[in-house]
Amino acid sequence: MESFMDNFRERSEVEREWLQELFVFVRDNLYPVLGPSTGSVSPEQLSLAMIRRVERAVGSSCARSLPLSYRLISVSELVTWQRTPCCSNLTWSTAQHREWVREAEQALPNHEALPRANLLLIGCLSDGCDPERSCDGAWRVRDATGTVHCELLSPSPLWLGLPVLFPCWNYIPQPAPGKDQEVEERGYLELVGCPLPLTSDPEMTFNPAGVNLKRSVGVREAAGLIQHRVRGLRVKVYGEVSGVYPRLNIAGKSFFCLRLREGRHTLPLLVTEPCCLWWQQCLCVGGSVCVSGLRVCALQGWSGNRVLCATSQSSLTLLPDTLIQDLSDTPTLDMHTPDLDTDTVGSDPPLSDCSSTECPLPERERQGAGPDPSPSLRPRLSKAISYKGVLTSVLSAAAGLYVIDGKVGLCLAYQPLQRRGLRPGAEIELHDVHFLYRPSPHFHPSMLCVCLRSSLRVTSFSRLGSEVDRPSDAPLPSLLLERNLGVSQYLWLCHCCRALRDRLVPRWVKEERVYVVARRLLECVVTSEKGGGRGGRRDIYREMLQEPHHCPLTEYSVSSPVCEYVSVSDCVSVMENECWTSLSLASLLPASGSSLTRAELNPSVAWSVGLSLGQDSQPRPLLLVGVLELPGTHTLRLRDQTGAVTCVAVETGDDDSGGQRAANNTAWIGCLVCVQRFTMVMERFLQSEFPSYRHLDQDSYITHRHCRVYIQLCLNDLQILSPSAAMASLLLRENSRTTQGGERETERDRGEMREKRGEEREETREKGGEEREERREKGGEAREERREKGGEEREEREERREKGGEAREERREKGGEEREERREKEGEEREERTDYVSERKKRSSEEDRIEEREGGAKRARQNHTENETCSKPGGGASLPGDWPCISVVMCVEGKEGVAWRNEGIACEGEEAGLSLCFSVRADLIGQIQRWERDPRNCPLQERETDGQTRTVELLFVRSSVRWFPLIQAGSFYRLIAPNTQDPSVLIGCRVAGRSGVELHTNPSLLVRSDWRIHTLTHPLLTTPYSQSISQKVMSVAEVLDCSSGVDLVSFHGVISQRITLQRGTTTHTPTQRDVEAGLSVRLTVCVEPRGRSLQVYLDLSRTPYPPGLVPGNTVLLTSFQRRLSRVGGVYCRSVPVSCLTIMALGKTDTQSCDSPPPMILLGVWALAGAEQCVVGRVRGHVVCVLYLQLQWTCSLCGSIYTQERCTRPQPPCNSTSAVFQAEAKAAVEDGSGEAHIWFSCPVISGLLGLAMPQWEGLQRSLRVRGHLRVYTRGRSLVCDVEAEDPLLQYLSCVCSSSTVCRPLTLICTLHTRSHTPAARREDSAQLKRFTRGDREFVTRMPPPLQLTCTHILEERERD
Ligand SMILES: [Zn+2]
Ligand SMILES: [Zn+2]
Repeated sequence: MESFMDNFRERSEVEREWLQELFVFVRDNLYPVLGPSTGSVSPEQLSLAMIRRVERAVGSSCARSLPLSYRLISVSELVTWQRTPCCSNLTWSTAQHREWVREAEQALPNHEALPRANLLLIGCLSDGCDPERSCDGAWRVRDATGTVHCELLSPSPLWLGLPVLFPCWNYIPQPAPGKDQEVEERGYLELVGCPLPLTSDPEMTFNPAGVNLKRSVGVREAAGLIQHRVRGLRVKVYGEVSGVYPRLNIAGKSFFCLRLREGRHTLPLLVTEPCCLWWQQCLCVGGSVCVSGLRVCALQGWSGNRVLCATSQSSLTLLPDTLIQDLSDTPTLDMHTPDLDTDTVGSDPPLSDCSSTECPLPERERQGAGPDPSPSLRPRLSKAISYKGVLTSVLSAAAGLYVIDGKVGLCLAYQPLQRRGLRPGAEIELHDVHFLYRPSPHFHPSMLCVCLRSSLRVTSFSRLGSEVDRPSDAPLPSLLLERNLGVSQYLWLCHCCRALRDRLVPRWVKEERVYVVARRLLECVVTSEKGGGRGGRRDIYREMLQEPHHCPLTEYSVSSPVCEYVSVSDCVSVMENECWTSLSLASLLPASGSSLTRAELNPSVAWSVGLSLGQDSQPRPLLLVGVLELPGTHTLRLRDQTGAVTCVAVETGDDDSGGQRAANNTAWIGCLVCVQRFTMVMERFLQSEFPSYRHLDQDSYITHRHCRVYIQLCLNDLQILSPSAAMASLLLRENSRTTQGGERETERDRGEMREKRGEEREETREKGGEEREERREKGGEAREERREKGGEEREEREERREKGGEAREERREKGGEEREERREKEGEEREERTDYVSERKKRSSEEDRIEEREGGAKRARQNHTENETCSKPGGGASLPGDWPCISVVMCVEGKEGVAWRNEGIACEGEEAGLSLCFSVRADLIGQIQRWERDPRNCPLQERETDGQTRTVELLFVRSSVRWFPLIQAGSFYRLIAPNTQDPSVLIGCRVAGRSGVELHTNPSLLVRSDWRIHTLTHPLLTTPYSQSISQKVMSVAEVLDCSSGVDLVSFHGVISQRITLQRGTTTHTPTQRDVEAGLSVRLTVCVEPRGRSLQVYLDLSRTPYPPGLVPGNTVLLTSFQRRLSRVGGVYCRSVPVSCLTIMALGKTDTQSCDSPPPMILLGVWALAGAEQCVVGRVRGHVVCVLYLQLQWTCSLCGSIYTQERCTRPQPPCNSTSAVFQAEAKAAVEDGSGEAHIWFSCPVISGLLGLAMPQWEGLQRSLRVRGHLRVYTRGRSLVCDVEAEDPLLQYLSCVCSSSTVCRPLTLICTLHTRSHTPAARREDSAQLKRFTRGDREFVTRMPPPLQLTCTHILEERERD
């Protein structure tokens, strides 16, 4: 030290101090690691060399000054304390640095340049072959305190082992994958400039003369040599590098391949020798190298092919580019003494093992080559190209997704991921990379994908800081390996992960569980599509070495899976758009639309519905993911973080008929589901003042419009991504029932307690099993990963540790899942239990800590104990978080519709008034039970059914109304009042009779907002209740035919038509609320599409809008008033207690393929009436036209319209639009009977046999008089007015001609009056007089059948 400091006597005190520190640092940190190659230097010499280097480096700006602001930093200090990225450049002035920052930030405006740190770094470069670990080929910077990974742009082999000063470097800390991250893993160095040697080594610059290419062969000769294996042969090859493939790690052994080229000849070299792995960093495509000491090996994994392998005697020399052309040496063989190690690499476990890289899962076998894919899935071929560009963004480093030059996607997932140095702003060079065009709609159209044959090199480090990547994508590449996913599928998965994170985290899914959900989503979609992943096994040697090249990226299918995962809010906006784009007003009109007046026209466009299937959506089928919830309203909803959509849900019944019923299972609430099959319903409400159909294209006549969109689904079609607690235990029970049905029966006999306990044990066992399995799978994955892809610079030991970390992570994840599940279970009640929130928070943070300390084991134990206590009601200590509660089982008898009523119940300080409510009449079965914790939907226990059954009225008010969609008559539920042990809470109270009047009503029970309801599913205990049928539900025909004494009826039927009735008042600017508040609707309900129908009038003014009232759906209408019209027709009307329930969803695809109505004889029809059918095909002969009226009608007031004006005298009508109307009645007979058939506008021209020009001419000729009515008198047609009218004569001529009186086939519907069979009609028969010769007969004849013709099929087109 003294002698060292003697050199600097003239320096200032500050400088001397700095120098002194430097000396100590060099002596303590650098000197001890010097290898023998540096010769004998003293710490003093080293320090002096260092000072010379430093001074020369900074010298340009201020001569012989020391960079006093710089501090020497050791490797361990750097990785321990530097937590943010930084850069250090000894040679820059401040101005230079500022310019550097400006340039960097200009290139990528959204990023900031690395901050500058004044740190001096010295050390030795090592090749990763430290004595204490096996070689991994990673370059490191080493000093006495530790090592750190480093990335170099083009290192020279000569740098290894020398003490050097790093003048310019970036340090990038890595995101911590785990707590016990090794110090070395915490970050890495990017060495920007050449390191400056501190010893006077003469070889730091390349000396071409020193290259010894004697006895070396070119690629072409070498290729010939390897055809014949000679023992002990060592080859020295030179050539141009045409490919440097990624380092792989199989079963803990690392290796990599490179390919040399000479002209058109190429030759692969395999580097398995640990001490040569560091070569990989030195090689770059296009450079020339000479490699010595290679032996010929046969690769077992690569059928019958030989390659050159590096040996421990091998050395690598980088050649200047020009050198190869000059070589003229004749190649000779470099014969060593034959060594004893085997020349066949095949016996080497890692390499012979290469075919076992295929996935061990059974799926693989099933994924064999399937049938030909559909055209859209037909594979395309990718092209191998080279590319050089700047990384502009990192989409997900863990998933290996980047963007180059802002426009080209880069996917690295098919290579072992190399994460170091790939930061925004880095320049990279790619060779033999696959170019794919539009493999996925979610990423850039142009994608570059690297495979095991691609070379990727960073050619310039980024100057920008980069954000820390999310580690939750890390499992994605391993899923790619496991399922052998195609690139489209992988990109779809990555997209879904990102989307799930945006849409569900953190409210429903934890960040670390996103991958699990995405994986299940992939399984849902890929199994529903053909196959899963790709077929075939991967052979990595083939992929790397075989010519021509073939790998999983050679072929790709465009956008598979084809479905598109949209957020709930996107789905809603898709529907809102489609709602109006798919609307064609003219198509809403009946066939006679052109003759409708304003009063008829506008109601028929007032409401319409558009239905479309999610799977038919363009350009791709839609897929929804969300949580089912019961919000405070009366509908079920599917929700994610972007929004919510109302669902009309049905279930498939328990019986095998496959029929649907209204959804009743509350276990669905809180389930995270994937929805692939659903119908989008778009109801349109339009208020308009169209004068006639000609104005339909003028939007100015629309005074108001809005839409209501929602989806319809069958719960059985949903795929559960994450079940609610109730659903989880339900599924578990179902599974165990199917696997061990008999056993369970006996178990049940043994008594409820044992059953309960056994089941809980089963649950725990199964859970444990699941966990084990998952862990095993995970372990397999880790092994697989180790075998197939190398962690870049990891050694075996690190990998073991990593695996441990993964397992730990998995355990933690499992714990998280359990917590999540608990949270989900309680999700439904969460909002009400605000007072417990803080307590829960405390508890969950406590749990977190426990979890982190002890993993899942403790959690599982705790679960077990909880279950134990559950089975011991009334005893045992409750764990924190379990609330005692009471329950009662009920069977719902009937439910009233939800409506705004004045219940007079002012709870929670609210004002009494209109509140949303509904009531349910239910039988409470058995005694009220006490529980230590919520029993949820666990099977009904015998003790719960002991005791008397009493009927109560349950009143659901305000937020309790949310249970409405899932409470159905005939279903069993467990009603739970939490946080109490007082049974009186669940006992209904009788309404107090006033002033001596006794009320004979059921006691009523107000359902509080925090009460919970769990559906009890079959099989229930054998009780007399299990077959309990509540109200008598009739069919439409029964309602039509039942005696008139019945007042309130319940029936079900299919909606065939829905019409919004004209509203009396029209506000000038109606809002959505106005339109729906006064809504009055007429539904036509029938049994089958062409069966008998019943009109149902709904007054929706007092009820919240009911979704699902669309044609095709089956509805259950309970408590509707049956009424008779003036002419004796039956119709129904809603009353305040009426309730509408959607029972089954219509099929949207059957509308187009209606079968024609049945052929029917008139005589048969007359006798049977509507019991036969309502719509039928009639083949008969037109006897005569009984009546014909043609009229131009004012479309506004309905008066006759002549000569361009309306004829209404008082008040005068100034309408300018008229519509042509026509009506005719003809007598038709078919031999079995006679019918009077009415024809209206669109079919009259057909009846009269007039072509369109004639028909239009007739309309024009009527313009003047506006109106003509003719009828039959005797054998001729007469008119109200003059008989000489030419138009009358023309019509009379037409009507009596054979063009009209001809055989025809008609489609007719029965008039309502003819519905009742003639035999049962009393008033109908009339006397008729016949004359035969001179005799006259009088007979009682039923009136002819009254029909309306909807369509004329000419004789020739009837078949
Ligand atoms: Zn490839
Ligand atoms: Zn008028």
